[in-house]
Amino acid sequence: MQGKIGLEEHFALEETLKDSAGYLPEKVWTELGSRLLDIQDRRIREMDANGVEMMLLSLNAPTVQAIPDPKMANALSRRANDYLAEQIAKRPGRLQGLAALPMQDPDLASRELERCVTQLGFKGALVNGFSEISGSPSGVYYDLPQYWPFWGVVESLGVPFYLHPRNPLPKDSAIYEGHPWLMGPTWAFGQETAVHALRLMASGLFDKYPQLAVVLGHMGEGLPYSMWRIDNRNGWTKAPPAYPAKRPLGEYFQENFYLTTSGNFRTQTLIDAILEIGADRILFSTDWPFENVDHAANWFDVASISEHDRIKIGRTNAVKLFRLGI
Ligand code: MN
Repeated sequence: MQGKIGLEEHFALEETLKDSAGYLPEKVWTELGSRLLDIQDRRIREMDANGVEMMLLSLNAPTVQAIPDPKMANALSRRANDYLAEQIAKRPGRLQGLAALPMQDPDLASRELERCVTQLGFKGALVNGFSEISGSPSGVYYDLPQYWPFWGVVESLGVPFYLHPRNPLPKDSAIYEGHPWLMGPTWAFGQETAVHALRLMASGLFDKYPQLAVVLGHMGEGLPYSMWRIDNRNGWTKAPPAYPAKRPLGEYFQENFYLTTSGNFRTQTLIDAILEIGADRILFSTDWPFENVDHAANWFDVASISEHDRIKIGRTNAVKLFRLGI
């Protein structure tokens, strides 16, 4: 399929490159580093060769979210967002941006998002999971009350918020002890991000801000497979759910969430996601440069779904949701 749009596509600054070390074997580090630093050359060739018209770019992980000092996190966000805006200006028809945000300080995060959307023309934000901050040893999650004014700003700007994975902190990783292979995309990324998404749903955030759009990668971090059980466990007890949100969580999942195919190129999984959330809420992505564009495209272009759904998932859902004007 020509004209595809990818939404979870990363780059690095020289100063954030080291954050991506350790996720992949040492022997591919040189290759990964050059993929991450490149924006205008190999990336565009990969897009051309695989029918990808546009990528929405975002900073690598965890970067901004792993800087406990809010002012330093804000400064890095601004450097990354300004650099990205310069790169986009060279090829606005092929590249667009998602803002990095200093979530350590909800007010700074709101202001940086406003700046990125209204002045730099960014299409939304991509945040790498919880934020580390002095005084909160396990980091902060964005269902907490201090973040609600930030969510009000997100809703009023009308832009999507992409909740991207990161690993849990070592002190919160007891279950993985002795099994480092479970970290990252193998398992820990999905577990961490799914719990964060469930916290958002259960907090009542979407009752207060019903227009919010949260995007999850990797075909929903396992949630499409799990939502029914989350709402229907021990059904015979008829016990009301013990969280502040007014409705079953599956309703927020279906009304406030969008999923991308990043790094999860599996037709069986895509069909489950279509059955749970609908083809209007699933969007193509690759997760370049951690995954290959050709692996994503070669799978997606012939996956056994209707051509109508392929066009929606590959392109038109993204044009609508991110108001790309193409
Ligand atoms: Mn990613």
